[in-house]
Amino acid sequence: MQPIQHVFPQLKDAKKIVITTHQKPDGDAMGSSLAMFHFLTSMGHDVKVISPTNWASFLSWMPGSNKVLDYERNTEIANSLIEQSDWIFCLDFNILSRTKNMENVLLQSKAVKILIDHHQQPQVAVFQYGESDTSKSSTAEMVFDFIVGSGFDHLIDENIAQCLYAGVMTDTGSFRFPSTSSDVHQMVAHLMKRGLKHSIVHENLFDNFSENRLRFIGNTLLNRMEVFYEYNTALIAIPQQDLIKFDIKTGDTEGLVNYSLSIEGIKLAAIIIDRGEERKCSFRSKGDFDVNTFARTYFNGGGHYNAAGGFSVEPLDAVVAKFKSAMAENKEQLSSYQF
Ligand code: 5GP
Ligand code: MN
Repeated sequence: MQPIQHVFPQLKDAKKIVITTHQKPDGDAMGSSLAMFHFLTSMGHDVKVISPTNWASFLSWMPGSNKVLDYERNTEIANSLIEQSDWIFCLDFNILSRTKNMENVLLQSKAVKILIDHHQQPQVAVFQYGESDTSKSSTAEMVFDFIVGSGFDHLIDENIAQCLYAGVMTDTGSFRFPSTSSDVHQMVAHLMKRGLKHSIVHENLFDNFSENRLRFIGNTLLNRMEVFYEYNTALIAIPQQDLIKFDIKTGDTEGLVNYSLSIEGIKLAAIIIDRGEERKCSFRSKGDFDVNTFARTYFNGGGHYNAAGGFSVEPLDAVVAKFKSAMAENKEQLSSYQF
């Protein structure tokens, strides 16, 4: 993988470009993809964003989101766009399996693949150019660096600013995680000078839910959470019947795992959701517990040191049992509480 800077001189020639991201895109995945979309479009390229799956409705306010193709619903069109593209930007993921059904098409495509991502252990052989930096708060921050580094900083407008801010704000837990560097705050200051309306972004992302979702959260915290104080761990396990009862949609469960981390002393928070076709897991930790390794070891997953995810095809009860035995295997580390 050659350094991303080698892409800059090639930006002047118009290209057919596809931008893609991980399945069930979150705020950073969608924000960084759409910011890149606006940037490359304003440079005269022919650009399409393809999401491997659908996305949460609270992301649909983002400028340009109405032009994003859902691969599962538009497979043929998306395949031909991928086939005809000169470049494919891969944002906010680093192994092709995170693009679900797009994995093989991407692998077979002859387009130049460019990675911009901040997760651990990238599949570097797949990408011709790229930057993989786990110290970065978000892919949005890296897209900002890309735009500034390419010398086209003046193209950052309100649309790009709103998208980048949504990405960095969601991935830093509203600027609270340790990854929130002074560079992040400087970037936000810069975006504000370009027309960023930050309170609109917060309202769009956090004050746009259904009544059902709030009642679902109440039910989850009351009935579906177990706390293991001797392990400084909390587990939420959600059966599929809850998702049906409360009419839970894609994205409605995002952030739920963080609630248990707000209990004093909790160092590891886990959530396992029965999505029907699979059991999806999310892990969050504080301090020195590495959930990236934990997710890789026990749940076919990965991510960051303090935020990771995985999945299992076994029934919910079996996944819960597996989590409890994984927790017991890590007792020594979990029971010693250190920040
Ligand atoms: P979340 O729990 O919000 O879905 O994801 C937390 C972090 O872990 C994200 O950075 C996400 O990219 C990563 N992650 C989530 N699920 C998986 C997975 O199944 N495999 C891998 N490799 N990473 C995941
Ligand atoms: Mn991210």
